[in-house]
Amino acid sequence: MIYVSTRGQTPALGFSDAVAMGLAPDGGLFLPESLPDLSGRLASWEKLRYAELCFEFMREFATDIPAETLRVIVEKSYTAFSQAEIAPLKQLGSRVHVLELFHGPTLAFKDFALQLLGNLYEHQCQERRETINVLGATSGDTGAAAIHGLLGKPGTAIFILYPDGRVSPLQERQMTCTGAENVFALAVDGTFDDAQTALKEVFGDQEFRRRHRLSAVNSINLARVLAQCVYYLYAWFRLPAAQREFAEFVVPTGNFGNVLAGWLLQRMGVPIGGFKIATNQNDILYRLFATGEYRVGAVTPSLAPSMDIQVASNFERFLYFQVGRDPAKVRAILEQFKRTGDYRFAEWDRGTFSASRCSDAEIPGIIQRVYREFGYVVDPHTACAFKDLSPDRVSVVLATASPAKFPETIASAIGVVPTHPSLEALKSRPIVKHRIPATPAAIRAFIDQHAVA
Ligand SMILES: *Cc1c(COP(=O)(O)O)cnc(C)c1O
Repeated sequence: MIYVSTRGQTPALGFSDAVAMGLAPDGGLFLPESLPDLSGRLASWEKLRYAELCFEFMREFATDIPAETLRVIVEKSYTAFSQAEIAPLKQLGSRVHVLELFHGPTLAFKDFALQLLGNLYEHQCQERRETINVLGATSGDTGAAAIHGLLGKPGTAIFILYPDGRVSPLQERQMTCTGAENVFALAVDGTFDDAQTALKEVFGDQEFRRRHRLSAVNSINLARVLAQCVYYLYAWFRLPAAQREFAEFVVPTGNFGNVLAGWLLQRMGVPIGGFKIATNQNDILYRLFATGEYRVGAVTPSLAPSMDIQVASNFERFLYFQVGRDPAKVRAILEQFKRTGDYRFAEWDRGTFSASRCSDAEIPGIIQRVYREFGYVVDPHTACAFKDLSPDRVSVVLATASPAKFPETIASAIGVVPTHPSLEALKSRPIVKHRIPATPAAIRAFIDQHAVA
């Protein structure tokens, strides 16, 4: 299997190179040159354990990794999950199921992809006899999940920048209480955008980048999207057979990464009924699917902070298919969008997507309602997905984070403080963080000092 860039100006690459590169040099995102048809495999995959299913699925894509090696990488990636089922599907009502994606080490769905990505990086280090230094900026969940994907792995170091005092105390503890020697949590003086800007400049320094074999951790890595396809398939198999083709997956979305994975799986011949894109008050995707207009708005911080985005980076992959896989059209649309912050699709085919948006004012009430109706506690991101479930179809709501990560919001909504043993354990461990200014010079100096050689 080979991988092409959505912007069409990068030579096709194998799986391992596309994963190592992350973003294509032409600024585009990698996609398989053609999607496999899985419809003939489904019957034989139905009963597989989660990690077995993931192996069979990834085998279609990671064709440059020997099968037995890939099996070990995949199996290892799901050992840090606290539930044997990995992604348990729970039935809440006759038409409502919830897919719990928060049983990984950092209690959010990003562990599904970043545990696997960490092991793929480790494998590459061993293969190429090289070390790797991973660098990223985070406003919360991604940094914690990336850190836990690389924790203690020989030959790797990870540097995560975050705005000091602006991530939740529990998220900070997940990044700073690991005790691992290859993890560096960098608390920058400034906002997330300041960190992001400084980081872009560091990556722009090609000599520095090569010298430290610097790799970016972000939401657009090909391996992340593919790893996320697997839980849709796993859940689909666990639905009653008569419901599968009609089920709508309801997905709390910010960067379009999570829902894109489900949609790709549908294109691979898995008959999923449809998808609902559930945004918070930062609703660019809601407006797009409602009207066909993609227009930037200002980001307002919300109770569901991991969905506070302005431009959905993974949308480019969907756009590529939407314009008939024509990279020239992708470039033209993105060019206009970049110039004006606005693009209106003349013929917008929303396909099997629907959309909902949820304001901060609504989130506590939804947490209350779900608790009353089903005796089930949802986190603020998952609450957005419960905004308005279609009454006449079967819904599978993706629960993207554990409510225990957001104790204040939950407590004020229902008077119950959710806890989780892994978060409680963190509270007695020392915080190790490095305060630095949000400047490229300070970041470079820190990496020069601490990178794995
Ligand atoms: C990252 C995140 C999301 C949004 O995921 P996208 O891939 O950006 O769509 C939703 N919920 C939680 C808890 C997250 O951490």
